[in-house]
Amino acid sequence: MLYVNDLSLNIPETTKPRVVIIGGGFGGVNLAKNLSGKDFQIVMFDRQNYNGFWPMLYQVATAGLEPDAIAEPFRKMFDNGEDFHFRLVKITGVNPVTRTITTLIGELQYDYLVIATGTKSNFFGNESIKKFAFPLKRIPDALNLRSQLFQAFEQASLIRDEPLRQSMLNVVIAGAGPTGVELAGALAEMREHVLPGDYRGLDFEKMNIYLVEGNNRVLPLMSPESGSWSQQFLEKKGIIVKLGTRVEDYDGELARLSTGEEIPTQTLIWSAGVTGALIDGVPAESIENGRILVDQFNQVQGLPNIFAIGDIALMKSKKYPKGLPGVAQPAIQQGKHLAGNLARLLRRKPLKPFNYFNKGTLAVIGRNGAVGDLPGKLHLKGFFAWITWLFVHIYYLVGFRNKLVVFSNWIYRFFTYQRSNRLIIRPFVRQEDKAGQEFIRRYQED
Ligand SMILES: Cc1cc2nc3c(=O)[nH]c(=O)nc-3n(C[C@H](O)[C@H](O)[C@H](O)COP(=O)(O)OP(=O)(O)OC[C@H]3O[C@@H](n4cnc5c(N)ncnc54)[C@H](O)[C@@H]3O)c2cc1C
Repeated sequence: MLYVNDLSLNIPETTKPRVVIIGGGFGGVNLAKNLSGKDFQIVMFDRQNYNGFWPMLYQVATAGLEPDAIAEPFRKMFDNGEDFHFRLVKITGVNPVTRTITTLIGELQYDYLVIATGTKSNFFGNESIKKFAFPLKRIPDALNLRSQLFQAFEQASLIRDEPLRQSMLNVVIAGAGPTGVELAGALAEMREHVLPGDYRGLDFEKMNIYLVEGNNRVLPLMSPESGSWSQQFLEKKGIIVKLGTRVEDYDGELARLSTGEEIPTQTLIWSAGVTGALIDGVPAESIENGRILVDQFNQVQGLPNIFAIGDIALMKSKKYPKGLPGVAQPAIQQGKHLAGNLARLLRRKPLKPFNYFNKGTLAVIGRNGAVGDLPGKLHLKGFFAWITWLFVHIYYLVGFRNKLVVFSNWIYRFFTYQRSNRLIIRPFVRQEDKAGQEFIRRYQED
């Protein structure tokens, strides 16, 4: 049995400069992979023991993939890493004066600190939505959502009360960015090909999938061409798209929209916004819009030897006055680039500014349907974009086993339409509210 007093970060003493990386996402991992253990001691902290491939998370939530297929444990990724140390610990604070990071277990000094903590869901201060909605940011979220969807169908098949059954069958997705659109497409596919066979007593003509977006088009960060093509594709699949509309409140039973409309639903999926996963101790003047302001070398403004990369970093430039987009490529490229700059720092050479190379954006909407905005104002849509999405994502997925599992899953699903991972493994506890009515209680992780 371990007692808290027995715990220690157990990082060996070193004569080399110590680089501490908080977060092993796209940014942190690409930094660590490109740093040399001969030059630095590399210490990576993460609150989970794996690197997740979030672009495929919606497939876990909709029973298409097993969670292990989209993640790779850090200890496996870096099993040959020279002077590399991973610790499964959440970082609670940073002290730039003493050059230490704080955890519940203890403190550690750094020579260079890299904050690569990404983002967390933003509920815009609405506690009720935070309590009852289903976000999709991490693997536990995807398993929660998958369990909720199938539990709602199971319950619907037990219920005689028509309005209550309808609320089990209604799914509302808040936010029509890539995650919302991908989820909507996958749910429509499931409604057409999987659910009627599984639940023969239920009429899935009555299952409504709403996609609610505050902007006046779907995929607001992509081109208008991609947005309107995607909307048509989704509407053909029977998705009810509501533009210029926000989900303003949700009490676990009723989603209230900014138009005044109320949709009874047991499942509100929240993909309407994110904000930086900040660490205490970063001064307020270095933070803007929930992200950490960095210069063109990813140095945090006003904090020597502290860097931020990826989604948490706000790097403004002439071309990107509001900062780089919160997608995987800036994080990957900044991670690699910073590794080069840290090596330059060590050799007292001048740092090189970061230049983002936009490789384009892809979003998948369903079988044979995807859109892509490529450099040079090129737009892809339909089957060709879909095939491109599949290969690009297999290419970037970490681990040979994962590539094989995902690829064979896709082939199997393409021919059979099956979504095999339909287990409810995180059943939700039903409780009575004050009015004596039942509602679903869920567990919120921050
Ligand atoms: C569902 C979903 C779908 C997406 N789809 C796409 C897509 O199709 N294409 C695309 O380009 N981008 C997509 N993105 C965005 C992309 O995943 C992010 O831009 C990218 O992950 C950013 O990388 P990062 O390294 O900054 O952060 P992340 O990859 O989020 O990694 C941050 C890491 O920090 C850890 N962490 C956070 N706080 C702490 C702490 N206090 N202590 C210790 N560890 C901590 C987290 O556990 C995590 O491992 C998607 C994101 C999501 C959530």
